[in-house]
Amino acid sequence: MSLTTRTDDGWATTRFVVLGFGTAGYACADSLLQAGADHVTVLDDRDTEPLREKAQILETLGATIKLGAGSTAELPADVEVVVTSPGIPPHAPLLAAAVEREIPVWSEIELAWRLRDPANAAPWLCVTGTNGKTTTVQMLTSILTAAGHRAVAAGNVGLPLLEAVMDPEPYDVIAVELSSYQLHFTDSMSAHSAAVLNIAPDHVDWHGSMDAYAKAKGKIFENCQIACVYNVADPATEQLVQDADVIEGCRAIGFTLGTPAISMVGLIDELLVDRAFVEQRASSALELATLTDVIPAAPHNVANALAAAALARSFGVPANAVRDGLRVFRPDAHRIAAVGEVAGVNYVDDSKATNPHAAQASLLAYEHVVWIAGGQAKGATFDELVEAAKERLRGVVLLGQDKAVIAEALARHAPDVPVITVEATDTGAMETVVGEATKLAQVGDTVLLAPGCASWDMFANYGARGDAFAEAVLRLGDN
Ligand code: ADP
Repeated sequence: MSLTTRTDDGWATTRFVVLGFGTAGYACADSLLQAGADHVTVLDDRDTEPLREKAQILETLGATIKLGAGSTAELPADVEVVVTSPGIPPHAPLLAAAVEREIPVWSEIELAWRLRDPANAAPWLCVTGTNGKTTTVQMLTSILTAAGHRAVAAGNVGLPLLEAVMDPEPYDVIAVELSSYQLHFTDSMSAHSAAVLNIAPDHVDWHGSMDAYAKAKGKIFENCQIACVYNVADPATEQLVQDADVIEGCRAIGFTLGTPAISMVGLIDELLVDRAFVEQRASSALELATLTDVIPAAPHNVANALAAAALARSFGVPANAVRDGLRVFRPDAHRIAAVGEVAGVNYVDDSKATNPHAAQASLLAYEHVVWIAGGQAKGATFDELVEAAKERLRGVVLLGQDKAVIAEALARHAPDVPVITVEATDTGAMETVVGEATKLAQVGDTVLLAPGCASWDMFANYGARGDAFAEAVLRLGDN
């Protein structure tokens, strides 16, 4: 009995339990049924009308769905494989029980890998990291498309990976965004090439420790075939390449904002260049694009472009397609998005900067900044960020639940920087924040919303927070 590709004979008889009935759980159960599984049980402690409707659909297809309190209290005795959802941490009792009973636990990614069609399996180009995943995967897809490939962004962004894999019209290549949650329970994937963009503290609660978080990210390199792409400026990412068991002949390729050494992509003056996938790499570099092709050309975004270029080049994409793909690409909303210029001050929305590492990257892209920050810090600290950015700070406006954490870091490392604290938490608060930031700004400065925190204490999500900022800036222009 085998379960390594879609056409294997083991799917029908194996007893599967799918844990969690959210988007991922539904897709897993549905795909298992499509693959011919006869024994699929889904467990979720929630019981809502929309879940019941979804349950009915799968029940008609032959699944057993158990919803409501107590449903996940115990693993069925005869279960042979558990397929889990990203929201469930590994220390959850049911997963701990499965691991103890030596029952395999698969993420949706592991399932997708095993459900590929062996006759038409698209290679996977995979990306993980604390920040920049979505942007890099989308840049990569744009480059692959410019090269004439039928490509799609899937995984943690865009299409669910299972859908991409089960698509009756096969893709040439899939650009896969992977989170540390998904990688934790992924073991047999063998990426064509993979990249880790950076590693900074985030989601440590879920993984139990920073070391466990980094290890989960490192699994992206296991069994990698052609290139393991790491960030030269972040030695922890290179260490993960060294620790991985890869396929014979797989290369370590660095990306850097400096001049690239051999087996790296990087910058020479205004050019993005390749010294990794060219024959004469000992003595020459190949021009891929110019800095003006990367929008916005903030340093961390150029780093994302270089990582995407390295993955694309490992797949044989020519240099001109890298340039064309980057040129037409624009990041999703709320990622260093220019909102407008009012009275000589530039306003930028990077509401998606929801941890200090992301906010720091944004701040370092501007010479003189009025920084708007605060929200839910999720236990993070801001000392390193303030140390790195203090020379650039014209002033700071703080809002939200954990503003004191940031204020204390500022007091410790940048006591001379003016800090305004906005106590209001109602819908008008952002208008006050923008008003205060404007008072601090001088002509030529940037007012940057890069909160370094989650938004849920005051807003529905980071998008709503960014919209509130943009609306307040628009109103400034009216006055
Ligand atoms: P993710 O999918 O990993 O959350 P995104 O591409 O959505 O990443 O970017 C999220 C935020 O992270 C951006 O708004 C920006 O502030 C920051 N960011 C993007 N790329 C990088 C990078 N390479 N290094 C540090 N921060 C980054």
